Amino acid sequence: MSNALINYIIIRQGRPVFLGEKLFKVFYPTIEIASAYDIPYEKYFESGKRGIIYDIDNTLVMHGAPADERSIELFKKLKELGFKTVLLSNNKEPRVKSFADDVGSMYLHKAGKPLLKGYKRAMEMMDTDPSSTLFVGDQLFTDVWGANRAGIETVLTSPIDPREEIQIVLKRKLEKIVLKSYHKKNRQKQDL
Ligand SMILES: [Mg+2]
Repeated sequence: MSNALINYIIIRQGRPVFLGEKLFKVFYPTIEIASAYDIPYEKYFESGKRGIIYDIDNTLVMHGAPADERSIELFKKLKELGFKTVLLSNNKEPRVKSFADDVGSMYLHKAGKPLLKGYKRAMEMMDTDPSSTLFVGDQLFTDVWGANRAGIETVLTSPIDPREEIQIVLKRKLEKIVLKSYHKKNRQKQDL
């Protein structure tokens, strides 16, 4: 995220309602689900999704942690359902490759999220298009922003580990402002 944008949000944070629809909506996920392990994947398959792009750190396991039984089981189930998957991570290759090998998924390391190229390459690898692809990740300003611009439906998950590095802590504060506006919009929708 550019410094100009961070400054803009900080300066304007007293007036999130004003900015809500204009600026924040590029960061809004399609849906929020507490965990990547609670997503109704069967339903997404029935609705035509064939490929899923995943963030790894704090979405599937704690930051830097190896694949665990739960993640290995999930990818086994996804394969049985008929999904293709790509792990799209800004992390370095040794971390991403070893996780990918353990769960049996394709991967892209140093993906440059939120830039579009990683998302596009992931869809090429899965032979899917934006309408048949789902994105799952825990960060608004990298994961969700990029997926939104690529036209991909997004699932925002809660970060697995609440203790995070300092640069992420600042981003989380900004995320809170955007999420407040997103939740308000969702409440309005429900009221209609
Ligand atoms: Mg993450």
